[in-house]
Amino acid sequence: MRTTKWNRNRMVAVMIAALILNASGCSNGPPEFHQPPVRVVVTTTMIADMVQRVGGERVLVDTLMGPGVDPHRYQPTAGDRKKLENAHLVFYNGLHLEGKMADLFAKNWGRYRAYAVTAGLTPADLLPADVDGGECDPHVWFDVRLWARCIPPVASALAELDPAGRSYYEANAAAYQKELDELDRAIRAELAQVPPAKRKLVTSHDAFRYFGAAYQFEVRGLQGVSTASETSTKDRIELAQYLSEHQIPAVFTETSVPDEGLKAVLDTCHRDYGHTVKLIGGETALFSDSLGGPGTPAGTYAGMIRHNVRVIVSALGN
Ligand SMILES: [Zn+2]
Repeated sequence: MRTTKWNRNRMVAVMIAALILNASGCSNGPPEFHQPPVRVVVTTTMIADMVQRVGGERVLVDTLMGPGVDPHRYQPTAGDRKKLENAHLVFYNGLHLEGKMADLFAKNWGRYRAYAVTAGLTPADLLPADVDGGECDPHVWFDVRLWARCIPPVASALAELDPAGRSYYEANAAAYQKELDELDRAIRAELAQVPPAKRKLVTSHDAFRYFGAAYQFEVRGLQGVSTASETSTKDRIELAQYLSEHQIPAVFTETSVPDEGLKAVLDTCHRDYGHTVKLIGGETALFSDSLGGPGTPAGTYAGMIRHNVRVIVSALGN
């Protein structure tokens, strides 16, 4: 059964994480901060970009989950323990994106001083993870305006540790928020090229529901909000039916999720329903839970959003 296996996988992950993160046995606080750089450890590349933009030259950012890494299945390593031991601050996404790793950050408060960047969002901002309610969908970065609201808490946490840098952090945060407001306007204009009837975004996993809510797309993932669940034949047949029924021309693979499942759906769709669907992947795969490599066009948050929007408009637009 799906849930049992999922729970078992999570339990194993938690036990390994607990062993690694607690192995030092020390109960010392974080290293004392005297002067910049502030040593910051973050979980995802999206958060790394945000902290770097706000912290500028006063921070040194170390990322636990690099480009292409799937956070839902991530298991901390011994190297991560070392990074965490030396960190003044830790920023993570929260909303269970990092699984039980977040509970460990909270438990080790005092040792790591960890902040969830989504902590300031309200229940009204958030989407449930599944139709039954339950946990919240963690992929908030796909609504650019919502992600921009995660910036001020980062500036506050940095300023609390490094008060001499307060005005610097606040000015950087304001500039970054302005940039993201402009990005939001620019992508709305670009997405207007996709007619309402064609606004159906099908991907490997359900990472794009905030994108769908913010920019009026119907979204559907083969896997759920987490990649840690497994898909069944029933899931694949239902998705093939949906693609054929709505004559959807293309589906999108993601850089951090294997695409075998989607390929199987397209085979079913072609064989059983006579509807051929294009698989958008390779260079044009969507970035979902991680940015592109450093120095590449999708290596920043804004670049990643622009890449995704360009790919979506070119595949679904007129
Ligand atoms: Zn995800």
